[in-house]
Amino acid sequence: MKEIVRAWRHIPQRYSLIGSKCSHCGKVFFPKRVLCPECRSKGDLKDIALKGEGKIHSYSVINTPTDDFKLIAPYVVAIVELIEGAKITTQIVDCNSKDVEIGSEVELVFRKIKEEGDDGVISYGYKFKLKE
Ligand SMILES: [Zn+2]
Repeated sequence: MKEIVRAWRHIPQRYSLIGSKCSHCGKVFFPKRVLCPECRSKGDLKDIALKGEGKIHSYSVINTPTDDFKLIAPYVVAIVELIEGAKITTQIVDCNSKDVEIGSEVELVFRKIKEEGDDGVISYGYKFKLKE
């Protein structure tokens, strides 16, 4: 079991976002849930592969980031509403913050977020960019 968990940590879910869809009320959530926050139904949540496309619901431009992020400031953090209906908080990459607007169409990208010490474990994180 431990081996499987390790493997999953290294493979970013085959480069897709996996959320949960409630078969009771039909709502979609990300990250995955066990209990439906909408209808409180338990055990009716099924994995669903999310397309990774959506629109910006709201956003803010971070000009004074923490040390970890100072190299990339300013950067944009947005709440993206996916086409499946789930909302996800994410960084918007590869953009000029002036080009980001509420309603802008965005798509998923995976980015290397850090490379750890000697074993060379690379972590990936999901981010979004403006659709061209
Ligand atoms: Zn539900």
